[in-house]
Amino acid sequence: MKVCRKIDEIRQHLQADKTSGRTIGFVPTMGYLHEGHLSLVRESLNLTDRTVVSIFVNPTQFGPREDYHQYPRNLERDINILQKLGVDYLFAPSVEEMYPPGYQTYVEVTELQNKLCGRSRPGHFRGVCTIVLKLFNIIQPDWAFFGQKDAQQAIIIQKMVTDLHLTTRIKVLPIVRDKDGLALSSRNTYLNPQERQAALVLYKSLQLAQQLFAAGERNATVIKQAMIDLIQQEPLAKIDYVAIVEMENLEELKEIKEPALVALAVFINRVRLIDNIILSLKEKKS
Ligand code: AMP
Repeated sequence: MKVCRKIDEIRQHLQADKTSGRTIGFVPTMGYLHEGHLSLVRESLNLTDRTVVSIFVNPTQFGPREDYHQYPRNLERDINILQKLGVDYLFAPSVEEMYPPGYQTYVEVTELQNKLCGRSRPGHFRGVCTIVLKLFNIIQPDWAFFGQKDAQQAIIIQKMVTDLHLTTRIKVLPIVRDKDGLALSSRNTYLNPQERQAALVLYKSLQLAQQLFAAGERNATVIKQAMIDLIQQEPLAKIDYVAIVEMENLEELKEIKEPALVALAVFINRVRLIDNIILSLKEKKS
């Protein structure tokens, strides 16, 4: 695996691959890799000729009071993992490489960015879209892989790709969970054992929503209230939002019709966690 720290370097390598007609798959991450990330990497390895993974903790998607400085980092460990999987290129640029002094260009998906997580994290999706477009321009992938874990992010990126006529195709893969249901996240490392236990309430509330839906409930307010009641029984949990929305435009639904996205953000003490499910009459989905 080639580890590239510079834009010119990764471009040069990929140029040769593209000239020989190889397809490029791309998995953007912030590192501290877990099985959720690796499911995307495996899909890229299966589907494309060359796989590029990026690791970049992107400062522009963190608010001033968020965890940019504490965010877990371990490049050496990540390199080992990716090498073993057979990844072709790791792009791990510095902040200065991506945002040199005087940097001033940003991308916004003006409506979708203000819903759900956008309300409590103003500027977050502007940072996400900006870095993803920059990375797409550098790598020019045929395919890019995102996790359903960050459902709003995946929907916004797809919208950006459509609106800006990008040629990269987006594939969204299911949420990978621990055995007890907790969605894998690099931020789970912030949780102590008691908080880790309390964090199960996110998935439990989503399962409750799915059960109510399967039993015939179609009133979104009723389902949301049942979720809220359940979460409030957990003393360490504080709700940021619980929402049932249309997949495409993230508009709140009153009467549920498939496919509806149930999404939530909950603080467990000071750690903000997100999770979601797509309501379905078929088998449980993540
Ligand atoms: P991050 O490093 O948190 O920015 O995540 C990089 C990519 O991995 C994003 O597309 C995430 O949606 C995806 N991802 C993170 N956690 C999971 C998970 N538990 N299951 C599936 N994909 C995930």
